[in-house]
Amino acid sequence: MPKNKTKQKKVLPETKILFLHGWHSIPGGVKPTHLKDHGFEVINPALDDDNFGVAVATAQAEFDKHKPHVVVGSSRGGAVAMNINTCNTKLVLLCPAWKKWGVAKTVRPGTVILHSRSDDVVPFSDSEELVASSGLPPETLIEIGNDHRLADGSSLSVLLWVCKLFASGQEFPGLEGEKPSFVDAFSQDEGSYVCDACGEEIIIPLDLTEGSSQMYVEDCPVCCRANTIHVQVDDEGNAQVRAEPEQDYE
Ligand SMILES: [Zn+2]
Repeated sequence: MPKNKTKQKKVLPETKILFLHGWHSIPGGVKPTHLKDHGFEVINPALDDDNFGVAVATAQAEFDKHKPHVVVGSSRGGAVAMNINTCNTKLVLLCPAWKKWGVAKTVRPGTVILHSRSDDVVPFSDSEELVASSGLPPETLIEIGNDHRLADGSSLSVLLWVCKLFASGQEFPGLEGEKPSFVDAFSQDEGSYVCDACGEEIIIPLDLTEGSSQMYVEDCPVCCRANTIHVQVDDEGNAQVRAEPEQDYE
């Protein structure tokens, strides 16, 4: 049975994320835990539920103390993130409740917003409005998930992917056109290639949070010859996998 032995890697150990939770949430939920499980150092302070000003002050103090690489704000925490001074630190906002809390009405270029159209707590249109009033391109807003929580597998994968992208100092790429199908690729977890040496079809697990274009070397589980595996998410959102013999390109 083909198995995979690559994976397991990356994310600089010192990469810090300040995670700002939502109203009546508590630190240690699914989303910060997912980021932590994938190697990030996650600072997840408890924010005052009653007094927005106090919540902002707490978040600002944590930001100043830890100097995180990325700030993630969920729902009311998204509004908190918009209302603290984050300098040039990248923001990832999950269905931000900016209309309900705080004074900030725009976000900086480079910000990424994840939101479900089925969100019945914070309307999806609030994020469309935020993107438009900030003068940002439509791809700033990623439509994902089935509800307000954004705790499903696809949402978590996209959140992790964006954080990794920012942690590695990259800008959010211009995803032209079919955003939903691109995002669909994150739920695809298997691919296959044909070994160039023995002709066997090899099934491999895919971790698209590693990026939409990947290349790595692994030994064919059948004939043990090394193949260079290329994984590429195409315009339709499908992950294409191909292999070529690893060796002298001379
Ligand atoms: Zn083989």
